[in-house]
Amino acid sequence: MRWEDIVGQDRPVRLLRAALERDQLHHAYLLAGPPGTGKELIARTLAQAANCEAEDVASRPCERCGHCLAIARGSFPDVQWILPQSEMVARGLISKADLEGAPSKEIRVDEVRALSRRLSFAALRGRRKIAALVPADALNERAQNALLKTLEEPPPATTFLLISANPDALLPTIRSRCARVQLGPVSEELIYRRLVRDGVAEPEARERAARAQGSFSQALSDPGERRSLIEAFERALAAPDERDALDLAAEHSERDAAALVAVAIEAWTRDVLVAQAGAPRQLLEARDLFDTAAQLGARLPPTTLLSQAGLCARVIEALGQNGNGRLQLERLFLGARELRASGQKGNAHG
Ligand SMILES: [Zn+2]
Repeated sequence: MRWEDIVGQDRPVRLLRAALERDQLHHAYLLAGPPGTGKELIARTLAQAANCEAEDVASRPCERCGHCLAIARGSFPDVQWILPQSEMVARGLISKADLEGAPSKEIRVDEVRALSRRLSFAALRGRRKIAALVPADALNERAQNALLKTLEEPPPATTFLLISANPDALLPTIRSRCARVQLGPVSEELIYRRLVRDGVAEPEARERAARAQGSFSQALSDPGERRSLIEAFERALAAPDERDALDLAAEHSERDAAALVAVAIEAWTRDVLVAQAGAPRQLLEARDLFDTAAQLGARLPPTTLLSQAGLCARVIEALGQNGNGRLQLERLFLGARELRASGQKGNAHG
């Protein structure tokens, strides 16, 4: 990505470009900002610009030279991306089958030590070695202490990029060793214009931009997918037996996928409660399902919905603590089925 194409982050982009053009890149930056605002994009662009082969500094990254292309592909030896295993599985970079146990959600001390060893050598092809930690708050405490040692005596011609939506989770000693680059939420208007440029129809672009709360990745996520998930969930709850519910849980059995499903169902449950309270369509997250939410809200007692919301929260918590994806979704779907059955019975009797 060219610097000019990064939307809505003018200040951080200006700051980093100026440092590059004066050849005064700091040895560690903390790229902090809400999810989906472009932290990784800026990190990759910085890595490219620092190693681009274009003569003219102002036109780096050129996006065309061998170095720029290799960095974009993730195959440049002097640019290292360090992610927790769970994130690598979620991005399809490794397969769960390659791991001995469950994928770790942490960046561990041995991974930081291996990184420091690799960085102690001179750059192989580029001018500057870049090590991006994504997200830096996945470093556990021992790993942070190991990183701190490296930051105190940084290897030559190296820049660390600590990427985090939650920088307060980092040790203060780590934060104080980094130059902080703060990204803000992206304005609704910029997200809207970008969606339209990407070919999204205007009314839908307006709606997605409004819902995105400053997050590009949220705006780009497909509302169609969410809709079909919610519809499958409601079908599984209305089905005469448990088969559809069990199939749906099996379909999203990977833990991170299961967590996304649980979060989507929690938001949906909130939507039904909001519709039940008589709120207009605009206040729902899944506005495209307003009619379904209103119908359910008219039929189900609030206690059933509140119990369902509580169940979602417990499942999300369990998944955050290494719970099994499939079992937790089964617990959510079968539990919700029971709540529906007893809620509707209660209605009929009362
Ligand atoms: Zn280039």
